[in-house]
Amino acid sequence: MKSKSARKPVAWLMVSLCLVSLLPPRAGAWGREGHRVIARIAVNHLTAKTKAAIGELLRADPDDREMCSQQTSLDEKMACVSTWADVVKRDLQFACTASLHFVNIPIYAPPPQRRYDARRDCANGDCVVGAIDHYRLILTDTTKRASERALALKFIVHFIGDLHQPLHTAKDHDLDARNTENHNRFRDSGDRGGNLKLVTWLGEPANQFGCWNLHAVWDDGIIDQIHADETALANALDGALDPQKIAGLQRGTLVDWVNEAFGLAIGNAYHLPNHQGNDKVCEVPGGDKRDCDKYSPQTCRISEVHYRYHLGKDYFSQNLPAVKAQLTGAGVRLAKFLNDIFDPVR
Ligand SMILES: [Zn+2]
Repeated sequence: MKSKSARKPVAWLMVSLCLVSLLPPRAGAWGREGHRVIARIAVNHLTAKTKAAIGELLRADPDDREMCSQQTSLDEKMACVSTWADVVKRDLQFACTASLHFVNIPIYAPPPQRRYDARRDCANGDCVVGAIDHYRLILTDTTKRASERALALKFIVHFIGDLHQPLHTAKDHDLDARNTENHNRFRDSGDRGGNLKLVTWLGEPANQFGCWNLHAVWDDGIIDQIHADETALANALDGALDPQKIAGLQRGTLVDWVNEAFGLAIGNAYHLPNHQGNDKVCEVPGGDKRDCDKYSPQTCRISEVHYRYHLGKDYFSQNLPAVKAQLTGAGVRLAKFLNDIFDPVR
C-alpha cells in the first residue's frame, strides 16, 4: 500500500493544475488526423516487447469510451486512443488536464530568453512538458494499477504529439489589444497560441466550428489540404525516413523538442502577412459562429474586435514541410519514448 506522503505530491500537483485551468479554455491540438498519423508512425518503430506491453495495458483501460479495444491491430488501437485526451478535457473529471496540452513560451521575450524556461513557462509542472514527466512516472511505476497506467499511456501518446505542434509551444501578445476599438474592457492576456488571431484560410472565413484562426490552421487546415487519408499520409511520411534520419530525430530531450517546435512557431507559424488595419472581425456570442464577415461596431459591441490576416497558398506552401516534419518527428520520438520505458535494454 502506498503511504499517504508518497501520494501527496501528485495530489498537490493536481490541485495546482486545477487552479490554473480556470483560465479561459484554449482550443485545439493537432486535429484528429494529425494525432492519428503520429500514432501510426510510432507503432512502426516500436519493438515487439513494447508492443506487447502496450497491448496489455490498453486492455486495462478504464475509460474506453471510443471502444478502441475492439480495434483489431495495435496501430488501429493506438490511432484510436491518440485523441482521447482531447475528448475528455471538457469532462469535469479531467478538467484539470486542459492546461496540460501546451506550454506558453513568449515569442516576444528578449532573444536570449526565447526558449523554454521551466520556471517561467511551466510553474508547478503545469504545462505539456511537466505533464509528460508526471505521466511517465506513473507509467514506469509497476506498483500502480494497470488502469491508472493505461490512462497515463494515453496522455503521453497525445501530449508528445501536442508538443510538436509549434503553436502548442508559443504565445504572442494579443496584438489586438493595441486596437483601441472596443478594447478598453479587454486586457492583453496573450493570443493563446494563435487562437485569438482570426484569419481567412485559402479564402474561407470559417470552418465548421467557427471563424478560422491561426491555431486551427496549424491543427487542421494545412493537414486537410494534403488530401490524403491518414494511413496513406503516415506511410508516406514514414517511408521517406532512413535509419540515419530516424536516429537523428530520436536524439535529444523533451526540452530540445519543445525548443525546436518553438523555433518553428517564431520562424514559420507567426510569420504572417501584414493585416490591413481596417479589416476586423469579431465573434458574436450567441450568434452564428460562422458568420465572420459581419463586422460592424453594432454586432461587435459586446465582443472583442480582432484584426484579420489572410492566409493563402503561399502560407500553405511555406509551412507544409514544417507540418510534415513535425508529424514525422513526433511519431518516431513517441516510439523512442515508449521503447525506453518498456524495452530499455535493446
Ligand atoms: Zn491536445
